[in-house]
Amino acid sequence: MENLKEYKYDIIILGGGPAGLSAAIYAGRAALNSAIIDTGVTGGWLNKILEIENYPGFPMVNGFDLAEKIEEHADKFGVQKHIMQTITGIDLYSPVKKIKTNEGIFIADSVIIATGAHPQKLGVPGEEELAGRGVSYCAVCDGAFFKDKVVSVVGGGNSAVEEALYLTRFASKVNIIHRRNELRADKMYQERALDNPKVNFILDSVVNSINGRDKVESITLKNVKTNEVIEILTDGVFPYIGYTPNSEMFKDQLQLDERGFIKTDVEMATSCEGVFAAGDIRVTPLRQIVISVADGALAATGAAKYIKEKEEVAEIAN
Ligand code: NAP
Repeated sequence: MENLKEYKYDIIILGGGPAGLSAAIYAGRAALNSAIIDTGVTGGWLNKILEIENYPGFPMVNGFDLAEKIEEHADKFGVQKHIMQTITGIDLYSPVKKIKTNEGIFIADSVIIATGAHPQKLGVPGEEELAGRGVSYCAVCDGAFFKDKVVSVVGGGNSAVEEALYLTRFASKVNIIHRRNELRADKMYQERALDNPKVNFILDSVVNSINGRDKVESITLKNVKTNEVIEILTDGVFPYIGYTPNSEMFKDQLQLDERGFIKTDVEMATSCEGVFAAGDIRVTPLRQIVISVADGALAATGAAKYIKEKEEVAEIAN
């Protein structure tokens, strides 16, 4: 027989990254009590970014330090944090919203979803088997293991180029493998990579397999223009080919786009009344920390407005 503690909040925020923490600050400012539920620790993906150069007011800041600052700010506004939770049930449509975790049953008038996204897998043979043995999705976490080694970053976006540049601090050579002959990354990063003698571009190429017995030893690449297949020696593989939204648990309750991102209006309202989404989880033209915190502010403001209207309707009915 389950004996779970019941918690009641005005707003439950799912996810404690920049969007969730910002929502908590704005909930506090609206004198609403809020709680963050996170399956890990607060800070989210921000904790894994070494250097941030485009967060206004901070010309250069470490992701972990910025996350800590935003969290301290949210703490000042009294947010409760329930971290390391396993979410076992979500009911967004009952008169009060309900989230069930291994720790308790959380009831709230409004829910803000800020669960972010996780790195997309290449889906090639060897990737799963060699994860943690040379295949890594976090250069900041694992880069130092590749001192004087050859590593290969896959992707042509900001993440791939930025992380490749970071890896040049340790590795003797960093291959950037991209499926087209033009990078998607901002020009500034492209120029830095072109100027770095350790960076080697392998363009128009996709990874067919990651090879090695107990650890990564090589990768097999196919040139998409010539169909030529080559094998290159590498000690590490860092796929940075975009992110997949952490929205699986909402797919039966909310409208998502074809890639699984949550659809919202300009006030961050989702297809379910009283439920808002913020940050990388939602359909947005730009995924940046500054966008996530702005989304969080809008979502909490929308939630506060929804709660007020609900209370007014209840008062009239009484
Ligand atoms: P992204 O911008 O979506 O780029 C993904 C890259 O991976 C693209 O070059 C794409 O190729 C390639 N790709 C996608 N699927 C692939 C597959 N199956 N096989 C091989 N290559 C594949 O992802 P991101 O770089 O992770 O960035 C995500 C968001 O965060 C973006 O909005 C980005 O601007 C932002 N971000 C910003 C910063 C910053 O401002 N400092 C840093 C990191 C991320 P194509 O180009 O051919 O599509």
